Amino acid sequence: MSDAEQRLADVQAGLNRACRDAARAEKPLLVAVSKTFDADAIRPLIAVGQRHFGENRVQEAQAKWPAMMAETPGITLHLVGQLQSNKAAEAVALFDVIHSVDRPSLVTALGKAQAAAGKHLACYLQVNIGDEEQKGGCALSDLPALLAQAREAGLNVVGLMCVPPAAVEPAPYFALLAEHAKRLGLAGLSMGMSSDYETAALLGSTVVRVGSALFGSR
Ligand SMILES: *Cc1c(COP(=O)(O)O)cnc(C)c1O
Repeated sequence: MSDAEQRLADVQAGLNRACRDAARAEKPLLVAVSKTFDADAIRPLIAVGQRHFGENRVQEAQAKWPAMMAETPGITLHLVGQLQSNKAAEAVALFDVIHSVDRPSLVTALGKAQAAAGKHLACYLQVNIGDEEQKGGCALSDLPALLAQAREAGLNVVGLMCVPPAAVEPAPYFALLAEHAKRLGLAGLSMGMSSDYETAALLGSTVVRVGSALFGSR
């Protein structure tokens, strides 16, 4: 087995374990977050069948992905990082899924960009689940209004996304996000990273965004 294949197998085994423990029939989708890694690091994962990838910067993704997507049909590209409204059109052109819709100005920009491009992405609303000052994501109290605005603007909102506070037990935050998604009738839960994807899977995550456990430390 190549390094890439081994790491992918390890993460999949962790997800399998969590799903067995939680008696879940369906495993979360694994998005390989390849930010900061170049094509030479990414191609081995594509070679062993990984098809969903995540990036956190539009410019970096534009430089890396069009060539690899031309080589291998069927790649789905996810934007997991903060998006500036003035990059909305570029993001809509390149990505298939956006995990970081978190404020009214961005909803407006994405609505216009999608209408102009005639392309409709799946979107997650990012929630600042730990109510941290420096972090992206909308406040829980603003979530219903943001969802209503997003639907009004024609966005296809499929779920909620969060990045829990660092260095504390993430489980309560994952559970809280799941509770709010359920209340809003949203099936998608984008939660879980390298350090906590098993916990997230136990608590109902439908998408995990895993970088360093697949590519090594950044
Ligand atoms: C970088 C990043 C990840 C992946 O983080 P790892 O700890 O390397 O798995 C997931 N989600 C977001 C939003 C990120 O920026």
